[in-house]
Amino acid sequence: MEGSNSDSVRKPKPYRSDVPVRDADVDSAFKYEVADKFGGEGLLRCLKCGACSGGCPVGSVIDYRPRRVLGNVLLGLREQVLVGENLWLCAACFTCEERCVQEVNFTDVVTVLRNMASEEGHAAPGYVKMAKTVMEHGRVSKATGHVGKIREELGLPPFSEPDMEQLHKIIQSSGFLEIIEANEGRESEE
Ligand code: SF4
Ligand code: SF4
Repeated sequence: MEGSNSDSVRKPKPYRSDVPVRDADVDSAFKYEVADKFGGEGLLRCLKCGACSGGCPVGSVIDYRPRRVLGNVLLGLREQVLVGENLWLCAACFTCEERCVQEVNFTDVVTVLRNMASEEGHAAPGYVKMAKTVMEHGRVSKATGHVGKIREELGLPPFSEPDMEQLHKIIQSSGFLEIIEANEGRESEE
């Protein structure tokens, strides 16, 4: 497993568009590593036209641009892409995929990048928290009495208990546990 807990607490470099990229920050193999993974194949077709950024609903309210993420991957700015919160801002609405004439499938590229970031101990704290709740309770959030009452009022059946034995088998065999270990402690960094 790449990365370590000490890596996981490293603060990302703030994004700077006003300073030149240094050779030392460039990993020229990074784009091929991403494009080799399932879902990342479209990356190398990107023309950096910006149609994705123009339609991104997240980018309309905060400083987030899919084209910038793609540009950084193509340039080889591995740490800039994988460390920090920027990668986790995409809402997976697929608007960029619908607009892209090159069929880059940016949402899938983001999934590849998030998986790589998680394996290296850079998962977003909120996701780590959710993953731990799944491990402990079999759900992304705890089932509360309040929710149970609302379900009853709506005429919905009560929660069924998750099969924790089956769940833990999946966690053990899927590599999920190793990813959680690589991100140990990150859930409290928010
Ligand atoms: S992903 Fe598609 S829409 Fe976005 S910059 Fe690249 S080619 Fe253009
Ligand atoms: S999928 Fe993500 S990057 Fe693409 S438009 Fe939606 S929020 Fe923006």
